[in-house]
Amino acid sequence: MAKSGEFDFIEASLKPLTLGHPAALGLADDAALLTPQAGHEIVLASDMLVEGRHFPVAATPDVIAARALHSNLSDLAAMGAFPLAFLSSVAFPETWTARDREALAAAFARQTQALEFPLIGGDTTLGGEALVLSLTMVGEVPTGQALLRSGAREGEDVWVSGTIGDAGLGLKMAQNTLDRQTDLLARYEQPQARLELGLALRGLASACIDLSDGLLADAGHLAKASGVGIEIESAMIPLSDPALLWLENEGQAGLVKLASAGDDYELLFTAPSARSGEILALQADLGVTLNWIGRVLPGEGCMLLDDAGVAIDVTAGGFTHF
Ligand SMILES: [Mg+2]
Repeated sequence: MAKSGEFDFIEASLKPLTLGHPAALGLADDAALLTPQAGHEIVLASDMLVEGRHFPVAATPDVIAARALHSNLSDLAAMGAFPLAFLSSVAFPETWTARDREALAAAFARQTQALEFPLIGGDTTLGGEALVLSLTMVGEVPTGQALLRSGAREGEDVWVSGTIGDAGLGLKMAQNTLDRQTDLLARYEQPQARLELGLALRGLASACIDLSDGLLADAGHLAKASGVGIEIESAMIPLSDPALLWLENEGQAGLVKLASAGDDYELLFTAPSARSGEILALQADLGVTLNWIGRVLPGEGCMLLDDAGVAIDVTAGGFTHF
């Protein structure tokens, strides 16, 4: 984009996204200037999304904005961080008109105003054929209180929020390979990062991870970081009504598919059994279901158990980006 066009775009379409936050310096300086609260650590997460890979080619601006923001915010949630601001680097396809660019910025504005989450910097450029978005999230957490993947200990319980596999089914609907069902499609197109839950789990969960690659894969990531094994009881995996309906014709392989599907952006966490009451009490406060799904064991990896307690051969791994 011509330099003058870029300045116009920043002024008209991106500046409103700052919500007037002083750290943005009106998007008019060389960098942002953010003052952390005393006694807090800055939490940074960055994630790149490519059209056709992380969202469908024909996705609407609202779907692109929701998926880009919440998949990134989910990483802050997993750390127990409070979201402060974000930076956004965008490579627009050369075929995009000024109107296309403005429509995407407007979709971001709708999302970030609702979240009171300001843009404080970034870059825009013309790219190749696909839209490429890289967001950098800035959050903060009281020093020493961040939730890490590495804190799970043998004997603890494994918990998960919400329901599992809905976004995977929603993706099939977005790709028109499964009949559309509004709630499941929304789980894929309009994910909701569990930010409040992440904050509430500080001092309560011993380890935490957000589910982006799939329940089994991400439980495996947490197990590896903690140097433990995890077993999950398949009967305890929380499923939505439409997912249960889908599962009726699919059997055990279907359940493994749901447990391997990405993009749920729920939180999986571990805690000592003595904290179960406090964890269950969070449900009413936060309006989110929390379910016990398994245990932390000595050893390594993540094992899925059937109703008889026998390990299911899980050959389908989690969704991988490469
Ligand atoms: Mg993550």
